[in-house]
Amino acid sequence: MLSKFKPTWMIPTIYQISPLKLNQMGIKAVFTDLDNTLIPWNNTYGTTQLKNWINALYKHGIQLVVISNNSHKRVSKAVQHFNIDYISRAYKPLPSGIIKALKKYNLDNKQVIMVGDQLLTDVVASNNAKVRSVLVKPVLPSDAWNTKLNRYIEKKIWTKLLKKYNNLTWQEDIDER
Ligand SMILES: [Mg+2]
Repeated sequence: MLSKFKPTWMIPTIYQISPLKLNQMGIKAVFTDLDNTLIPWNNTYGTTQLKNWINALYKHGIQLVVISNNSHKRVSKAVQHFNIDYISRAYKPLPSGIIKALKKYNLDNKQVIMVGDQLLTDVVASNNAKVRSVLVKPVLPSDAWNTKLNRYIEKKIWTKLLKKYNNLTWQEDIDER
């Protein structure tokens, strides 16, 4: 059961994931959580860094798709400044949003990675969909009220994960796994 919460990689920010490396690994699309992964939860303006990273992804022929549990209204507003496709109301930790995106882009589970800041939603959804995942640190240290409970549970799971696995360390970039 504990393995459901285990991310494939741990990389502090999404921008550190090198589009060139993804391309070399045969990754065709990056699926990502929205709040506190791509942008702060309380602000919809992305940084220049984010825009540059998205452009670099597209240059390497890699699609970016937001997979969020938030409403259509909130997600569409948040991504309006960028050229990003999205799936809202994804019901993570269920795999349905990820599976929907795989079908939409006609990709198999080995051709994508899913990035997110929460074990309980993003990582579990990835594992349920048999997609490799990247855990990032939240863009903002504080969370929306509905995330606070998840963080509390997450802390307890972390203790168990660290006891069981000795390869859970933050790294600078993605590698073959
Ligand atoms: Mg999030």
